[in-house]
This record gives sequence, C-alpha cells and structure tokens, in this order.
Amino acid sequence: MKEFDIIIIGGGLSGSSTALYLSKKGYSVLVIEKEKVQTMKPCAGGMASSMKKFLPLDIETVIESKIRNVEFTWKASDKVIADLSGESPFWIINRDKLDLLLLNQALKYGTEILRPAKVEKISKENEKWVIHMCNKCKYRSEFLVIADGSQSQWADYFKLGPKQPKFANTIALRLNGLGNIPKDSVRFEFGFVKNGFAWAFPLKESINIGLGTFINNSHLDNEEINNKIMKSFGFEDLTFKTINKKLRIWNGFHKLNGDKVLVVGDAASLCDPFLAEGIRPALISSFYAAENIDQCLSNQIDHLHHYSKTINNQWGKSMVWGRRIAQVFYRFPKTGYQLGVKRKTAPKRIAQILSGEMNYEDIAKRVIKRLLTRS
Ligand SMILES: Cc1cc2nc3c(=O)[nH]c(=O)nc-3n(C[C@H](O)[C@H](O)[C@H](O)COP(=O)(O)OP(=O)(O)OC[C@H]3O[C@@H](n4cnc5c(N)ncnc54)[C@H](O)[C@@H]3O)c2cc1C
Repeated sequence: MKEFDIIIIGGGLSGSSTALYLSKKGYSVLVIEKEKVQTMKPCAGGMASSMKKFLPLDIETVIESKIRNVEFTWKASDKVIADLSGESPFWIINRDKLDLLLLNQALKYGTEILRPAKVEKISKENEKWVIHMCNKCKYRSEFLVIADGSQSQWADYFKLGPKQPKFANTIALRLNGLGNIPKDSVRFEFGFVKNGFAWAFPLKESINIGLGTFINNSHLDNEEINNKIMKSFGFEDLTFKTINKKLRIWNGFHKLNGDKVLVVGDAASLCDPFLAEGIRPALISSFYAAENIDQCLSNQIDHLHHYSKTINNQWGKSMVWGRRIAQVFYRFPKTGYQLGVKRKTAPKRIAQILSGEMNYEDIAKRVIKRLLTRS
C-alpha cells in the first residue's frame, strides 16, 4: 500500500492550492480527483488582489481583467458607480486556468494525482488514514484534507462544518463579447432575481454572467426574467448554455477539523452568503490548512484545533454580518438598494469589501458606532 504524508480529496482550487503549499515544503502529497479532465468551472473569477498573500505562486498569467469600477443597477436603471481607488484592487481571473496552474505546479513539486478516481471508504488503522478506492486500491496517509467542494460527501461523513448546510442556487454562463459592460468594470444587477442578484464579470474577450439566489431556496428558472437580465447586460441572442450549481454558503461557526483531518473551501461552507465570494475563503483556508499540517508534521503542535479557530476568527466573524446583511437585503431588496447601495458612502464601502480592504464586521461596527455617537 503506497503511503503519503497527506491525501487530499478534491483537486479544485482549494485542493490544488493546499497540495502546492505542502509539496513545496517537501511533503509527499496525493490528490484524488473524481473528474477525468477539468471541465468549465461555473465561477465568475472575481477576486480581491490582496489575496496574493494567500497564493503559493504568481498568477499574473491568469488575470484577464483589472477592475477600476463597480457598477450597480436596479432593474437595469438607477445606476450607481463605485470607483475602486488604488492599484487595481479587484481582478477577474480565469478560474479554469488558475486551478490548472496550481495543480500543474503542485505536480512539478512532486504531488501525485489519481483521476478519475472515487473513494469508497475511509478507515483509520494505527493512527493512519486508509483510503479504500472503488477499484480496490488502497492508500495510506498521516493527514487527510477534504476539498471536494459544495457537494461534499466527506465533510458530512467526518461531521465537519454545519450539520445542515445552506445552499445558494446559481446559474452560470460564459458569452463571447462584453455586451454593454466596460472592460474594466463589473456589474451587479439587483431587482430582477428574487432573493438574490445577477452579476457580469468581463474576461478579455468574453464575459462570465451569473445569477444567484441566497435565501428561501428560491429558484432561477423564470425564462422571461432571465432574458430581461441578459438584455440588461447588452445581449440579444437569448439561447445560452448554462450551468446550474448549488453553492454551499457560510452558515455559522463550526468545527472544521477532527483528529488529523480538516476541511477547506466550499466543502467547509465558507462561501460568502451575501456576494457568493468563495475564492478568497478557499485560498485563506488552504493557506492555514497547509500551515497547521506542516506544524503538526514538524512536531511544533500536536493537533489541528488552531485551524478551526483561525478560520472562524479570520473569516467567520465577518460572515456573521454578511449573513445578517443578506437576510435583510434579499428580503427587502428595494429598500436594501435605496439604503444600502444608493447611500452616499455605500458604493465605496462595497468596493472596500470586494477589494478585501474592509470586511462586513468593520462595516457593522462603523454603523453601530455612528448610531451610538448620534444618540
Ligand atoms: C456561478 C458561480 C459564480 C461564482 N463566482 C465567484 C466569483 O466571482 N468570485 C469568488 O470569489 N467566488 C465565486 N464563486 C465561488 C467559487 O467558485 C467557489 O467558492 C470555489 O470554486 C471553491 O473552490 P473549491 O476548491 O473549494 O471547490 P471546487 O472548485 O468545487 O472544487 C472541488 C473539486 O473536488 C472534486 N470533487 C468533488 N467531489 C469529489 C469526490 N467525491 N472525490 C474526489 N473529488 C471530488 C471536484 O471535481 C472539484 O474538482 C462562484 C460560484 C458559482 C457557483
């Protein structure tokens, strides 16, 4: 039976990033990925450039647009534009290329990959994980990382993350051309999608469009409304191939590690429940997962509890407020747009959230402080 220091289930963004960090440090890593080849990722690729510090390599080659303006509209009108000041703090990256770049680099550092491959059973023998594959092969490892995304089977098995995960319904499509979106702008369209919003993020010569609904498990199958959204983004041909995906969103503070096992990225339910931002928490969780496993393997610590604490502190504290904002905003979107987006300082604050300069907790504290000072 072949043995590794770390086995990672899932070779997407968080799995590949964790693999690269750990193989760069000299550990033996096996990634188990269920798909034979990487298919198009239903991800718009919007990412705060400040996340560079959580990436294990330079990603300049996969950046498609550097964003200067964020546009907001309510039913295709009432436009608000937020200027992203400073050095292009928000990027649109090509997700398919980013995942591949990370994985190929990890392979260069010695990571091994099994694909397509399916885990049948996981057991523990003499303090080591034994991974039983469907083809009857077995692999052994000291540590196990669960990175199998929103439809994670193994997070539930190890009781990591929320007992009852919450999901956003999403639709993603990629179209040639940019419609009416300027190449250095992203647009958030509110009002058409019930309990959610639509977004348009430009790549070099095409555009990623997404629709997401975040509360009440609302659906996105209203063709008439979806056509209005496409038209509002400047597209006339309305026959598109779409990808539907249920995205696991943040739903409270939970344990994200067990004994020698931890969960990262979407599988850990880290995606922002207000704006569907999942790249940032995928990278942050991969970074700290690798750091904690490294510390265990080099005998500096003897458990992974710091990992759960760090993620809950660094990400969860902001997401508590993100979830609260989502619950109010998507229930009363018209009022939310007037008070939350059209407020004088709001576009700047939203831009600061997107660029990673501020988090929802900072904003909530400011509002509370303002109320206290006024009273
Ligand atoms: C429509 C849409 C648009 C989005 N746009 C943005 C955006 O603009 N910005 C942003 O920050 N976030 C965005 N997100 C969220 C972001 O895409 C995710 O949070 C991110 O992909 C999480 O990465 P991950 O590696 O955890 O999961 P994934 O990328 O889903 O990777 C999981 C991997 O595990 C594999 N796998 C699954 N099950 C198994 C199994 N049993 N065994 C082995 N392998 C398995 C899968 O094949 C996949 O390769 C968007 C999401 C959607 C749905």
